[in-house]
Amino acid sequence: MSSWTLISGGTVIDGTGSAAVQDCSVLVKDDTIEAVGTDVGDETVPRGDEIVRIDATGRTVMPGLIDAHCHTSFGEARTQEEQDLYTSHELRTLRSAWNVTKVLRAGVTGISDPGGSYFIGVGIREGIAEGLVQGPRMTTAGRFLSTFNGISDWYPTSVGCPESSIGKVVNTADEMVTEVRHQVKNGVDLIKIGDSPLGDYEAFSGDEIKAMSDAAHRLNKRITMHARGSNNIDSAVAAELDWIMHGNSMSDDTIERLADSQIPLAPALLLLGNLGEYGAAAGVPAGMRSAYSRLLDRTAECLNKAREAGVPIITGTDTGFAATPYGDWHARELELLMRYAGMSALEAIKAATHDCAVVLGDDNDVGSLAAGKGADIIVVDGDPLADIRALQDKARISTVMLRGEVQVFDDEVLSQRRPYDRAQTICPSEITYDVVFNGGSAIQPDPRDFDTNGDQELLGQLDELAHAASQEAS
Ligand SMILES: [Zn+2]
Repeated sequence: MSSWTLISGGTVIDGTGSAAVQDCSVLVKDDTIEAVGTDVGDETVPRGDEIVRIDATGRTVMPGLIDAHCHTSFGEARTQEEQDLYTSHELRTLRSAWNVTKVLRAGVTGISDPGGSYFIGVGIREGIAEGLVQGPRMTTAGRFLSTFNGISDWYPTSVGCPESSIGKVVNTADEMVTEVRHQVKNGVDLIKIGDSPLGDYEAFSGDEIKAMSDAAHRLNKRITMHARGSNNIDSAVAAELDWIMHGNSMSDDTIERLADSQIPLAPALLLLGNLGEYGAAAGVPAGMRSAYSRLLDRTAECLNKAREAGVPIITGTDTGFAATPYGDWHARELELLMRYAGMSALEAIKAATHDCAVVLGDDNDVGSLAAGKGADIIVVDGDPLADIRALQDKARISTVMLRGEVQVFDDEVLSQRRPYDRAQTICPSEITYDVVFNGGSAIQPDPRDFDTNGDQELLGQLDELAHAASQEAS
């Protein structure tokens, strides 16, 4: 006996870029889409089989979103040290398991994790596959491969790149290939190369990138790279990587080569967009905010040209930082692709579904609503073609179906946050003589600076004590 779901009467956006179809139904059999169409009903469901009916009248039915850039083990880090040093890897793993449920709740039914601590991504992927963890379909990298000059060797040489870091330093082609083999042995789906943070130089040679790419491909694995500048993108294209992250600054020649290669580009605009546009809410200084916004404006020129040249652009958000918390902003990447890459709403949805499915690999045949595809479907109360931001409001994502199963969530629990341990702050600002006696101003501390164990209890107790003290005084 099969289990069936009929989602009827909605406006269907199938993810392929085809126009929306009104009053259209989707029939799901077990974990697979059986039929999509205006004439689809329950006639083909055998008598006696169980059928769930979802009335989607006035709503939009579309494939679940896919996020090519979701760092499951970053823990909403405010600082690099939080990602690399604090919080045990056992606790990081548990937090990651909790965070991927938030991602799924937001209508994101597929993610690719381009690197993080230890092999936490592999564990989370397996936990999801085994049904221990409620989370999206997932592929994952291990630690970023970096040189002394790449994106994860931040600390002084006297400290080095600790085992707990999100990166692994490899400085010769031999070390790089060995690390690729080591990570594949430990279950990664893809390799993540961390070239220079801002793309202004090359942390790896073209030959080294080619060596890693060949090593990954010989083992039937994928490989991607953090690449912000033309030279980085050129090397990534020459080495035939499977997709590329960022691409903020690209010459016309680079764009042409990228377009010819048909390698997808995941710009990950969200991190910059949130820091630039919403950073004030988190105390990001004005100068930094405008720098992020300027960078986005500059990126827009390249992305528009890339889109016009035919580069496949896919959604990735860099979720996992404090600026990009789990489950809150994945769908904002679509809004930003419309604003900064000139996409229509329909194109942005295609970028986030059909086109992005490539990062989930051949085992996951999803990303569009068509017979035979995996049944990852969301129902949205609103019209994302009229206002793409409808997808950002979780209250309007009325159904999340993964592998044919309607997901049940405890929104109350998922609304809580569990940041990793913070830096071990002793005092968040300078208590100078001038601050105390001459009216100078200190930086106002964030109470969470003292919240090193994610424990609000102490703060509550301190508040109570203070309240009691003020009562005593009056
Ligand atoms: Zn990232």
